[in-house]
Amino acid sequence: MKVLVVNCGSSSLKYQLFNMEDESVLAKGLVDRIGLDGSVLNHQPTGKPKVPLTAEIKNHTIAIKMVLEALAHPEYGVVSSIEEIDAIGHRVVHGAEKFSDSVLISPAVLAALDEFTELAPLHNPPNIAGINACAEILPSVPQVGVFDTAFHQTMPKHAFLYGIPYEAYKKYGVRRYGFHGTSHKYVSQRAAEMIGDHMSNLRIITCHLGNGASITAIKNGKSIDTSMGFTPLEGLVMGTRCGDIDPAIPPYLMRKEGMTPDEVDTYLNKKSGVLGLSGLSSDFRDLEEAADKGNERAQLAIDVFAYTVRKYIGSYAAAMGGVDAIVFTAGLGENSPRMRDQICNGLEFLGTRVDAAKNAGRGKEQEISVDGSKVKIFVIPTNEELVIARDTKTICLPLVK
Ligand code: ADP
Repeated sequence: MKVLVVNCGSSSLKYQLFNMEDESVLAKGLVDRIGLDGSVLNHQPTGKPKVPLTAEIKNHTIAIKMVLEALAHPEYGVVSSIEEIDAIGHRVVHGAEKFSDSVLISPAVLAALDEFTELAPLHNPPNIAGINACAEILPSVPQVGVFDTAFHQTMPKHAFLYGIPYEAYKKYGVRRYGFHGTSHKYVSQRAAEMIGDHMSNLRIITCHLGNGASITAIKNGKSIDTSMGFTPLEGLVMGTRCGDIDPAIPPYLMRKEGMTPDEVDTYLNKKSGVLGLSGLSSDFRDLEEAADKGNERAQLAIDVFAYTVRKYIGSYAAAMGGVDAIVFTAGLGENSPRMRDQICNGLEFLGTRVDAAKNAGRGKEQEISVDGSKVKIFVIPTNEELVIARDTKTICLPLVK
C-alpha cells in the first residue's frame, strides 16, 4: 500500500510518499511560495539527487498536480503511475472537540473543518485547500485527516478550562486545545518501546522544542495537560512567540503604543519569544553562537527558554504524581546538547541526571540519562509524517482493493 502524506501551509506544501509494506519513504519534497513570485517544487526521490522544479504555482491544486507529476515522472519519479497511490493522509491543525482521532474525509468532515477555521484562521484554510485539491485530481482515492489537536482531547476539564466565565467556553469554544499532538504521541510511544513497558504504566513528559515549542504530560498513554492552549501562542517562550504572559499585557501595550488588535497579535506571535528577548534571532544556533562570543541578551534568551521548559517539567511531574521519562524532540530538542543539559540541570531532585557523553549526540534516538536513572531522559527524533501514514493506512486499508 502506498500512502501520500500532505502537509499544507498557507504558501507551502510538504509531502512524503510512503511504501507501507516496510514504511519506507519513496520520495519527499516541498513546494514553496505558492501564490507568490518564485514558486518552486523541490522534489527528492530517496537515494537520488534533489530535483528543483520551478513553475508558476498559483494555488494548492496546481501544487498537488506538480507533486503527482513529479512522483510519476519517467526520470525522477518513484511510481509508474499516480494510480499506485492508494490513500492520502493530511495534517490538519485544528479538529476542535469534534475529532479525538484521525478520520476519513467526507463532506461532513470538510464542513466541520470549515467551521473550525475561526479557531485556526491561518492553518485550517490551507489544510482544507490541500484536501480539496487532492479530491479534485484523485476523486476516487480515500483521504484521511490527522489532527494536531486530537491527541490532547483526553485532557480533563480541570486542565483544559481557563479561569474566565464558563460561557466563553460554551459559546465560543474558548479552552485549551493543545497542538503538536501527533509528535507528542509518536515520541511518547517510542519512549515506552525503548523503556520496554506499556504506555499504560508510564508517566512521560514530552518536550517538542522547535520554532514552535510545546510540552505535554502523558499519563497512562493519555495527554493530561499540554502547554499550548486556545492557540499555539501559549506556553513556552518560543522562537518568535511570547508563550505565557500576564493577559493584562496586551491591552496595556495597545493603550501605550496605540496598537490595534492585529498589531498586538503580530507583536506577540512574530516579534516576541527569543527573537524579541535577544533582539538578534529566533534561531537557537545563532543564539548559541552569539552567547559564546559574549552576547548577553542572546544568553539571556537561552536562559529564559531553558528556565520555562524546566518549570513546566516540574509542574507536569506534579500534575502526574511523578515522572518516569522525559523526552526531547524537534529541531532544538534533537540537536542541542547544550540546551538539553541546561534544561535538565536542576532536575536531579526528580531522580535523573544527564550523562554528558551520551548527551553529546545530535539527531539520533538515544537515552541520555546516566545509567540506572530512576527517570530516563531520551532524545527521540519526531516523525509526524509516519504517524499520519500509519493512521491513513489503518483507516483506508479496508477501502482499497
Ligand atoms: P519547526 O518545525 O517548528 O519550524 P524545527 O523543529 O525544524 O522547527 O526546529 C527549528 C529550530 O531548531 C531552529 O530554530 C533552531 O533554533 C533549532 N535547531 C536546529 N538545529 C540546531 C542545532 N544544531 N543547534 C541548536 N539549535 C538547533
